[in-house]
Amino acid sequence: MADGSSFERAPLAGEVDAVVVGAGFGGMYMLHRLRELGLKVQGFEAGDNVGGTWYWNRYPGARCDVPSLFYSYTWDEDLQKDWRWSEKYAAQPEILRYANHVADRFDLRPLIAFQTRVISTAFDEAADRWTVTTDRGDELSARWLIMATGCLSTPRAPPISGVESFAGATYHTGAWPHEGVDFSGKRVAVIGTGSSGIQSIPQIARQAAHVTVFQRTANFSVPANNTPLSDADIEEFWKAFPQYIAMVKGPGMGFGASAAQTMAATPEERRQRYEEYWGVGGAGFLAAWGGVITDIDINNEAADFVREKIGETVKDAKTAAALKPNDHPIGTKRICVDIDYYETYNRPNVTLVNLKETPIEAITPTGVRTTGQAYDVDAIVFATGFDAMTGTLLAIDPKGVGGRPLKAAWAEGPKAYLGLAVAGFPNMFLITGPGSPSVLSNMINSIEQHVEWIQDCIGYMREHGLTRIEADPQAQEDWVAHVRRVADKTLFPRAASWYMGANIPGKPRVFMPYIGPGYRKKCADVAAAGYEGFALAKEQADVHAAG
Ligand code: NAP
Repeated sequence: MADGSSFERAPLAGEVDAVVVGAGFGGMYMLHRLRELGLKVQGFEAGDNVGGTWYWNRYPGARCDVPSLFYSYTWDEDLQKDWRWSEKYAAQPEILRYANHVADRFDLRPLIAFQTRVISTAFDEAADRWTVTTDRGDELSARWLIMATGCLSTPRAPPISGVESFAGATYHTGAWPHEGVDFSGKRVAVIGTGSSGIQSIPQIARQAAHVTVFQRTANFSVPANNTPLSDADIEEFWKAFPQYIAMVKGPGMGFGASAAQTMAATPEERRQRYEEYWGVGGAGFLAAWGGVITDIDINNEAADFVREKIGETVKDAKTAAALKPNDHPIGTKRICVDIDYYETYNRPNVTLVNLKETPIEAITPTGVRTTGQAYDVDAIVFATGFDAMTGTLLAIDPKGVGGRPLKAAWAEGPKAYLGLAVAGFPNMFLITGPGSPSVLSNMINSIEQHVEWIQDCIGYMREHGLTRIEADPQAQEDWVAHVRRVADKTLFPRAASWYMGANIPGKPRVFMPYIGPGYRKKCADVAAAGYEGFALAKEQADVHAAG
């Protein structure tokens, strides 16, 4: 059942060992590992197939900004060697095929109830179990609840007045129609110039009669310099793979040499390296020199380099000026990786509207009206992002000990011990939750680390006859403070980014991912010390029975 049609099934009821919410790369691997552990597991997935973010984000130009060979599971060498990526940066359809291949190869589909949205989860203190209910009337009791709900899975359309009055079609990049959209002959508005806008605008411009881009904040983008993958590329990858894995499993990704080393180089040497990295393309540009993310002078130099490239590429001076980012240090909003983004503005059928000069006033029946002008269009594409990292969890709003909602626990911003567990929510695990490297790392590698840690933890609990594990509130506070301290040593907090929750009105401004070194070691040490910072217990009923 993956054709978008709905189907009937009887509601699920009774007990399972674990429920996994979401069947993206996190959920799929978690299901596989828990089944290996001998658990009875049930997955729930809102979509009609696996793939998570790659299932929903089907907009034209959607592509991963991590090279495909690295954006692959590493836990099964045969899987890795059998799958042949066609391009340096795989496009969404290929990544979705990969997700489907994994689901088939490891027979994961029987574990997943598709087209099913989890609507509530509540912890039953007497039984140390979670009650999980869905929009299909399922009600399951599970010892373990794993939220593999993704970091960018709740699309957000801004509350611009008049949206409902628009007579044409509207789309969100994060919930794109599966049958695709034909923009031929159409006048299209694209609102938003983050990664999704920057990837889709060149593709839409190739098809549409006219594209009007509504830009509020200019973003930095580096060319992908995407190429087909040759056998030689793959051979190279395998040669370097052991060092890569050692680096990922060791200290993690770094940002190159130290700031002092960078400043010791001459401006010409620095420029030359920026040119080299620009030539290679991709987000690795930020690692050209150490200190780009921590030192504002080094950052300015890197940013100037990109601004210069924009100026060289975009012919119209006013458009070029508007496209040059000037309100945040480079890299403090997710750097974009594009194919022909800046070049697209040289097309006669593309117009940039600078919302900093003329903000949107309203959407009208015929298009978009700014304070400067009305733009009549046939379709509007919202490339306006997501309620990142917390939106999906808070929509489910798990009820923990004493019925306390996660919304209350996170009223001042998300708090999670190691980004894996939340005090007051026993037996619930987050995959790549806030406070873990997640979106600042290669998500696949981080997913694998979390899944394996959770599998080990549940295995440990079962071996020791334990039924309840809960993050200690003080350990959690200490971790959250550490995450903040580390972020404060970087330039990240200077940007009003979705990393900070700044794209959602009213969302607490907290830097959500963990950017520090040694994260994996910390998680491993916690486990090795018998889950330090967690309280472990036996089911109360058992204790009473034993007593
Ligand atoms: P985003 O980075 O949050 O960008 C949203 C855009 O919409 C911003 O330009 C924002 O402007 C604009 N916007 C929001 N509300 C607006 C309003 N009321 N009026 C005008 N403009 C408005 O979202 P995204 O592009 O979907 O990307 C989100 C993340 O998903 C990325 O950072 C990346 O991590 C991931 N992603 C990855 C890939 C990839 O792997 N290649 C592709 C797509 C997405 P302001 O900045 O002024 O708020």
